[in-house]
Amino acid sequence: MKPAPFEYTAPGSLAEALAVLAEHGDAAKPLAGGQSLVPMLAMRLTRPRMLVSLKRLRELGGIRRDDGILTIGAMTRHWEVEESRDVAEASPLLAEAIGLVGHPTIRSRGTVGGSIAHADPAAELPAVLVALDGRVRLRSSRGERTVPAAEFFQGMMTTAARPDELLTEVGFSVPAGARRGAAFEEVARRHGDFAMAAAAVALTLDADGRVTDARIALCGVEARPRRCTEAESALRGERLSGGERLRDAAALAAAGLDALDDLHASRAFRTHLAEVLTRRALERAYRRATGGRA
Ligand code: FAD
Repeated sequence: MKPAPFEYTAPGSLAEALAVLAEHGDAAKPLAGGQSLVPMLAMRLTRPRMLVSLKRLRELGGIRRDDGILTIGAMTRHWEVEESRDVAEASPLLAEAIGLVGHPTIRSRGTVGGSIAHADPAAELPAVLVALDGRVRLRSSRGERTVPAAEFFQGMMTTAARPDELLTEVGFSVPAGARRGAAFEEVARRHGDFAMAAAAVALTLDADGRVTDARIALCGVEARPRRCTEAESALRGERLSGGERLRDAAALAAAGLDALDDLHASRAFRTHLAEVLTRRALERAYRRATGGRA
């Protein structure tokens, strides 16, 4: 199929782009890397009358780290995140997850803002953003606001962003502490496919090996990324050497999930994957935090 007719504009400034979005409302759609939007246009799953390309908006690029936050501009391509030394140092969880987003050709065009705004339930970056207490910055011609990731993702491909708002940047918190370990585990039908289920984990330990901070989030399981707060609480203050606590926490993460049921995996299989992948990610994150190879 080919897309329904649309108009196209490529504004040269953020202010100009916001003015076009304000004028056209939900008849307009921002175009970032096009890796999700273009296939959807071709299949006529969406029919915007106006496409607003963000490719000339230099304001939306860049990666910076300050005050315990790693900030990434919306138009930063996935490959830039993959190659960033700042990301590797500040956020090993993000560094690991980004390599699982599609294939190199997808990552050469796809953007961080596009992945977050698209809010595919199986996408890796939204889960990392939720795990790391992320924030999403939104701009419209009416002003600017910051939305916590936990409130931004509202359901299947549904977010808190309004039609006239552009996502301008996302911020990932950088957990403090010297003994840190993170791991991202996923099962996909083929390498580079969207996750059938995945678990993102980041742990911080004190000098005695007790957990001071635990972050666990799942994607591909429910209609939006799920933060597993009960499992996190069960780990805090504990020593994890025996493995039993990790297994218990993984079981807690999978308890009470409202897992998706579709052609790719049944509800029961996804729930099972959630538990297994959480346990594996916890084990690997723990090995990393204690200086082991993983
Ligand atoms: P676009 O496709 O341009 O836009 C996507 C949506 O976000 C549109 O609705 C658009 O209007 C909106 N949007 C974009 N930028 C903004 C903004 N700044 N503000 C507001 N709204 C905005 N993704 C994964 O996460 N994991 C995978 O394993 C994976 N596998 C893939 C495999 C294939 C074969 C393909 C084609 C894609 C795959 N993707 C995967 C999707 C890919 O990561 C996309 O790049 C991403 O989902 C969207 O980013 P984009 O920059 O291409 O956005």
